[in-house]
Amino acid sequence: MFIWKKGFNYFDTSYAYHNGTSETAIKKAVVEKYPRESFKICDKMPTWALTSEEDNEKFVNEMLERLGIDYFDVFFGTTLTDHGLKMQKKTNTFEYVKKMKEEGVARKIGFNFHDKADLLKEVLEEYVDMFDIVQLELNYLDWEDPAIEAHKCYDLCVEHDLDVYVMEPLKRGVIVNPNDEIKKDFKEFNGEKSIASFAIRFCASLEHVKIVLSGMSNMADMLDNCDTYENFEPLSKEESEFLDKMAQKLADNLAVPCSECGYCVDACPEMIPIPEYFNLYNTSKNQPESNIYRLYFDKLCDEKVPADECTYCGTCLDYCTQKIDIPEELEKVVEHFQEGSAHTVKKPSFLIH
Ligand code: SF4
Ligand code: SF4
Repeated sequence: MFIWKKGFNYFDTSYAYHNGTSETAIKKAVVEKYPRESFKICDKMPTWALTSEEDNEKFVNEMLERLGIDYFDVFFGTTLTDHGLKMQKKTNTFEYVKKMKEEGVARKIGFNFHDKADLLKEVLEEYVDMFDIVQLELNYLDWEDPAIEAHKCYDLCVEHDLDVYVMEPLKRGVIVNPNDEIKKDFKEFNGEKSIASFAIRFCASLEHVKIVLSGMSNMADMLDNCDTYENFEPLSKEESEFLDKMAQKLADNLAVPCSECGYCVDACPEMIPIPEYFNLYNTSKNQPESNIYRLYFDKLCDEKVPADECTYCGTCLDYCTQKIDIPEELEKVVEHFQEGSAHTVKKPSFLIH
């Protein structure tokens, strides 16, 4: 297998990925073909699906069966937000995951963290010595962002001597799809290196970071990632300072700091595709000349649920990993596209008030 030869052998999956088919796909593509010790599998407890303490065991057994393995190399107890912490306490999931490690069902344990430093501090103090890893949303855009506090969260992990695994090193594509001015800045700074390679090196240069999970959507992305690691160089001071400036420029152009994690979508009783609206809104701010207005009306309002069907019920707020005031931002999205569309496309009748 190509990636094996390049030294990649870590497979990150979950009960829910790809509508529940990810674990079975890994079983067929990896587990049934290669010796167990030659690869590592990370899986995660579907805390959102647990209704009782007994469910911990039920789901773990099902996940092991789907994967065709008898132990996990890494197992994450929960996706931790304030809401997730309350949920795991009801089902005693952390204690169950600790038992998994003691019994050899999981070799290393940890949790996905999606909240601010105060909560991480509280969790690490309460469950001190239980975990090996914290998986953090970490990238140079979120590093000093007060809504995410990636830097502070990383420092807490260092203080507790925990390994850090990184999710969202490219902030779901926001970092690698900047406006033309930022693209030009990167080209002038170093035209030989991709924007993604800087973002990955930012994360992988941090001493406690052991794994960086980067989203790749095509072969070119994968080759670029392989090249970054094969010829890995920690960020220089000059590169670090350049990325600080780019982070500021990106932040100035970002309308909503949505990471497109999607947790709000299942919570919304109106089934509004919230991250898709925020994505278009951000793109529209960066690329005002694009065909974005038509996408908004035709692909989202028409084919899915219009953003102005938000009832302000507030259910989504508990689920947002970025602490975004979703109903307020959706209102801005609607205003932005309605105003902009007056100059570009004819508004559909259901949006004319
Ligand atoms: S406040 Fe709006 S977006 Fe949030 S859950 Fe309610 S209807 Fe959905
Ligand atoms: S609005 Fe919040 S919960 Fe929803 S996708 Fe964006 S970051 Fe995630």
